[in-house]
Amino acid sequence: MKSKTLRSRRGDRSRDKFHDECGVVAIYGHPEAANLAYLGLYALQHRGQESAGICSSDGRAIHCHKSMGHVADIFTPEVLGRLPGDHAIGHTRYSTAGDTVLLNAQPFSVSCNKGRIAVAHNGNITNAAELRRELEREGSIFQASSDTEVILHLVARSRERTLSGALREALMQLEGAFSLVFLAEDRILVARDPHGFRPLAFGQMELPDGRRAYVFASETCAFDLITAVYLGDVEPGEMVIAGPEGITRERYAPVRPRAQCVFEHVYFSRPDSVVFGRPVEQSRENLGRLLAREAPVEADVVVPVPDSGVAAAIGYAAESKIPFRQALIRNHYVGRTFIEPSQAIRDFGVKLKLNPVRHLLEGKRVILVDDSIVRGTTSRKIVRMVRGAGAREVHLRISCPPTISPCFYGVDTPCVAELIAASNGVEQIRRFVEADSLAYLSLGALREAVADRGDYCYACYTGNYPTELVNIEELMASKDRRG
Ligand code: AMP
Repeated sequence: MKSKTLRSRRGDRSRDKFHDECGVVAIYGHPEAANLAYLGLYALQHRGQESAGICSSDGRAIHCHKSMGHVADIFTPEVLGRLPGDHAIGHTRYSTAGDTVLLNAQPFSVSCNKGRIAVAHNGNITNAAELRRELEREGSIFQASSDTEVILHLVARSRERTLSGALREALMQLEGAFSLVFLAEDRILVARDPHGFRPLAFGQMELPDGRRAYVFASETCAFDLITAVYLGDVEPGEMVIAGPEGITRERYAPVRPRAQCVFEHVYFSRPDSVVFGRPVEQSRENLGRLLAREAPVEADVVVPVPDSGVAAAIGYAAESKIPFRQALIRNHYVGRTFIEPSQAIRDFGVKLKLNPVRHLLEGKRVILVDDSIVRGTTSRKIVRMVRGAGAREVHLRISCPPTISPCFYGVDTPCVAELIAASNGVEQIRRFVEADSLAYLSLGALREAVADRGDYCYACYTGNYPTELVNIEELMASKDRRG
């Protein structure tokens, strides 16, 4: 295994956004498979809000529906009624703006010599561009720009006779991060990359007639909603098949060092989920406690930036014995369509989402806790908002180390040029966000908070990528384009 350290690079800063963040779900052997996939996606909505899709199988044919928008708006009872069968997979995606987007919505489905198959993917395949060029040279035609389509082509053109054989062969050619769910007419196949970057939980449900249904999801909060029992995780480098013969688990790749995404615990997953076998809320509260030990400051109140900073702020307040106050209130109903005022209102975007509780802040020394600073622009608006509501001092505390490197394994971080901590020290960032003081958590404390035994990826904080990125220039350029 090689790792690569990056230094700052600059590039084109167009705003053509293309995120990799996603949630996946799969259901095997339940008469209401599509309804359960829908509920699972509903619980995973935070992992992607731009498009969603479900494919179901009734044993004879695969039925699909995908669309732009939120899960609850896309899947009406009428749409779900058109997704019959006992098996289903679903996907929710954070994606592009523009008219090619629906083409990239997942699941993808094709007919090939292995029958009709559909796939949904969370993660980012770092050698997708090379694989795609090779496939195109050999005559494959691509409809979308998503790296997930590459997987389908690899499976379809494999000479292996069985679907599991073809999938194994395809998986061995992929590099990077993938938690995949496949649907065939009579089975579900799921797999996780050998480093285990992205989560994939495994659970089961008892049917009234005593049969068992099997479920897979990015996070266990999806199981809670459908009252499935969490059995554990699909292991890194493991393929699990649920079919008429029962459950088959096999290791398709040699053991590699684990590289679970620590940002799932810092920000991305829901705090009520168990991710990589560990409660996310527990990690976040630890982050806050350790932050209070490492970066104490005299103050009157600890205030979280909702929702991402709440659990860490609870930990900070408990450790520092400074009262916790919800002095910023979030409007949870902010949609994508709103009427912008004709006259410019300062910081309109952040005001739509957050509003300060003035009497909790007036004249107070405030410790503001958030999970991360990416570009720094949101933090600056929030610091201004808190000061504007009368705070005497604003001390910003961040529950992870400075984000200095883009993620190539499925988290949407912008290019290096836009990451404020890639080219600025803490004091410069403090000035930019206009806080009285600023402190980040140390890498050592982050490790301690997630009880790491060498199992996590910290590339966004260190620039040490756990896999060899042969096409690093191309990957960086794609981040630049994605913005
Ligand atoms: P900014 O520093 O203005 O770019 O925004 C930082 C805020 O974005 C923090 O409050 C985080 O909660 C949130 N954030 C961090 N990483 C991500 C991500 N990958 N996707 C969406 N939001 C994020």
